[in-house]
Amino acid sequence: MDEDSEVVIIGAGICGLATALALHKKGIKSVVMERSESLRNVSGAAIIIQQNGWRALHQLGIDEILRQTALPIYRYRTISFDDRGRQKETSLIHWEGEWRCLRRKNLIDTLYAALPRGTVKFNCQVESIKLDPYSTKPVLRSVNGSFIRPKVVIGCDGNNSITADFLNLKPTKMFSLCPVRGLTTYPNGHPYDNEFIRLIKDNIVVARIPIDDNLVYWFCFLTYVPKANEKIWKDPELIRQLTIEMVRNHPQEIQEMVENADIKSLSLTHLRYRAPWDLLTGTCCKGTVAVAGDAMHAMGPFLGQGGAAALEDAIVLARIMAQRLGSNSDESGSKITVHGVEDALNLYVKERRMRVVLLSLQTYLIGTLSSTSSRIKKMICVMLLILLFYDQNSHMYYDCGNL
Ligand SMILES: Cc1cc2nc3c(=O)[nH]c(=O)nc-3n(C[C@H](O)[C@H](O)[C@H](O)COP(=O)(O)OP(=O)(O)OC[C@H]3O[C@@H](n4cnc5c(N)ncnc54)[C@H](O)[C@@H]3O)c2cc1C
Repeated sequence: MDEDSEVVIIGAGICGLATALALHKKGIKSVVMERSESLRNVSGAAIIIQQNGWRALHQLGIDEILRQTALPIYRYRTISFDDRGRQKETSLIHWEGEWRCLRRKNLIDTLYAALPRGTVKFNCQVESIKLDPYSTKPVLRSVNGSFIRPKVVIGCDGNNSITADFLNLKPTKMFSLCPVRGLTTYPNGHPYDNEFIRLIKDNIVVARIPIDDNLVYWFCFLTYVPKANEKIWKDPELIRQLTIEMVRNHPQEIQEMVENADIKSLSLTHLRYRAPWDLLTGTCCKGTVAVAGDAMHAMGPFLGQGGAAALEDAIVLARIMAQRLGSNSDESGSKITVHGVEDALNLYVKERRMRVVLLSLQTYLIGTLSSTSSRIKKMICVMLLILLFYDQNSHMYYDCGNL
């Protein structure tokens, strides 16, 4: 690892890769330190990208490649089944704007492929961040004991972020719901329309979205996770058995979809979020260190916006960095001056804060509404959702602007 890397990004998830690519497009070189041995492109199955996310992907120049991999989705439907199996459509929304479900692997691989070779350094886990008391430059210590002194650190290190700890952000909290996600391949093609459908039977919701003509992404929330059995979080066969058990009263096609899921795609996750009020008041940058993506605004999947918000972060951060660092240079000739960077990171946080607070708040209210059994809490959530988010889809019409 180059001791003199000026801009270091911690984490090669969606946010870290997108931030490196956005900076690269603005002529700013960066290095991404990733703790895993290789690209983390297997877990998580798929990700829904709504219009705001496609705008950001367009700015990164990879939207056309990704469009080839996923069908457009035109509508959102909810269908409930009663005890006799009769179905009733309880909501139907047609939306304008682009909406597709991508395999995570396609998104991560495409971001990675667009970066200059060698940008991502694998097996590089950052253990701590401190400030050098003399130069006030950040000092990163990696687990192998080496030190790096970059000028800028962007923490894209997800839920358990050491960058967020350095900034003294309050710890993330946990939703009680645990989602199972999976992909099912239909070798002869599936029969489903281009729609995001939620099927509800006995209060158990299964969501299904086609990715292409042969591949379907689905998820549901486990109502019961055996506490004593820690193995379940890592054992796809156990996840499958629990899910089959849970959907046993759903229509045959849903049961088959779960039974035939690609075993490697199955995952069960804890859902973490940063409380919207902590995000509103927290310090998201200090000196030349800032957070982005889940490290800043982990929010749960109820709006399907965490990943797209991470893409937006990348665009805004790179745009402002390029604007602020454009003309000045320090005595070594580098354009990356401490004052310029501090200024840029403050502006970045200022521009992003209300956007991600609102996304987090809407997500939090929907998540609480779905998980609480308290009628009073449910009522409060519904009232706040109506009052604050009357147009419940406005989040996807946001435009993060040009790179
Ligand atoms: C069930 C579920 C469904 C979701 N569905 C959607 C959806 O449909 N649409 C959507 O937009 N969003 C969705 N999201 C949210 C989305 O997945 C996340 O917001 C997004 O993946 C965050 O990316 P990230 O790069 O910020 O963090 P991560 O993906 O967590 O990446 C962090 C990276 O940092 C690395 N790292 C961590 N610590 C260190 C360290 N100390 N040193 C070096 N490397 C480190 C990790 O190994 C990892 O590679 C969903 C989330 C969940 C849980």
